[in-house]
Amino acid sequence: MPETERRRPTKTIHLGNLLLGSQYPVRVQSMTNTSTENAEETICQINNLVQHGCEIVRVAVPDEKALASLPAITSSVSVPVIADIHFRCDLAIKALKTGIKGLRINPGNIGSTDKYIALLRELASFPDIALRIGVNAGSLEQSLMKQVVAGELRWEQAMVDSALRYAKIAEEEGFENMKISLKASRVMQTVRAYRLLSSQCDYPLHLGITEAGTPLRGAVKSSIGIGMLLSEGIGDTFRVSLTGDPVLEVKTAYEILRALEIRKRGPDLISCPTCGRTQIDIISLVEKVDEYISTIPRHIKVAVMGCVVNGPGEAREADIGISGGKDSGVIFKKGQVIRKVPYERLFQAFQEELKRLLEESEDE
Ligand code: SF4
Repeated sequence: MPETERRRPTKTIHLGNLLLGSQYPVRVQSMTNTSTENAEETICQINNLVQHGCEIVRVAVPDEKALASLPAITSSVSVPVIADIHFRCDLAIKALKTGIKGLRINPGNIGSTDKYIALLRELASFPDIALRIGVNAGSLEQSLMKQVVAGELRWEQAMVDSALRYAKIAEEEGFENMKISLKASRVMQTVRAYRLLSSQCDYPLHLGITEAGTPLRGAVKSSIGIGMLLSEGIGDTFRVSLTGDPVLEVKTAYEILRALEIRKRGPDLISCPTCGRTQIDIISLVEKVDEYISTIPRHIKVAVMGCVVNGPGEAREADIGISGGKDSGVIFKKGQVIRKVPYERLFQAFQEELKRLLEESEDE
């Protein structure tokens, strides 16, 4: 089934030239962790993220120094840059003139409703900038908070009510180029909130499991939370939040999309779990292969298997694979062994054969 057929229908919005919504692929985002003030480092990190398939990048803009770097950053990278601004409506207004294509704010902490409206009025002059309304369970309006505390309203409904209230204010100001995200601390609470939101509006949704944690914990929580929603057709863009190198966020995002068969960018790497038959150091080999293929945009299946006896057969659906033997290994394609080489030359042989495979399939 084409991806768009199982998506919840949404409006289409745009971040510069990039279109977002149910008629377009689910977009992968990440956020830099360099100091935005340091334009050179930030540009370098964004370019690295883009090489790994990142399509939208968010940068934190906490102060004037970070703001001053934005023109250099936005003019040097090939993807839309979103400025992430909290508390400072003045900074958000100034950021509109720096080449950004998106602005992420939490209207609940931007100062006041009047300031939010002032920002929306400024935004009207920048039609290529999209707004993300990011509502946080921790900074809900007093009236909603009271109802939650009194047990009259569930957290998730309160977050949805808050987000829709801000969206309505924007609509009243004639602004609709926006997407919405909800930030809650627990995975299932987040899932429930997005389900509710998706049934009550047709704006594109940005998904994320906030403060998900270290790469392992974060990847698990994000895969469950974001994966559940995407599998239900909910979500038009997402960020996997991890405490670590943001490239890992992008890699994890594509693993989620691949596992759900939503998008197939880049190679799929399968590797055997290893067992008593393993005769080579497969863990370091698989890491090397993973790194080597990580910037290849084409979708191919690559396998790294521990033994020659079962490896090629078990991974026969792989376009290319390596299997280890005693002090040597083989390269195979679709289950057929094509080369046997000593262990020291195994990785090099794999690189050569992969290159050949990519060239051959390009010619087809
Ligand atoms: S491929 Fe070989 S080493 Fe790997 S799990 Fe299967 S039998 Fe064990």
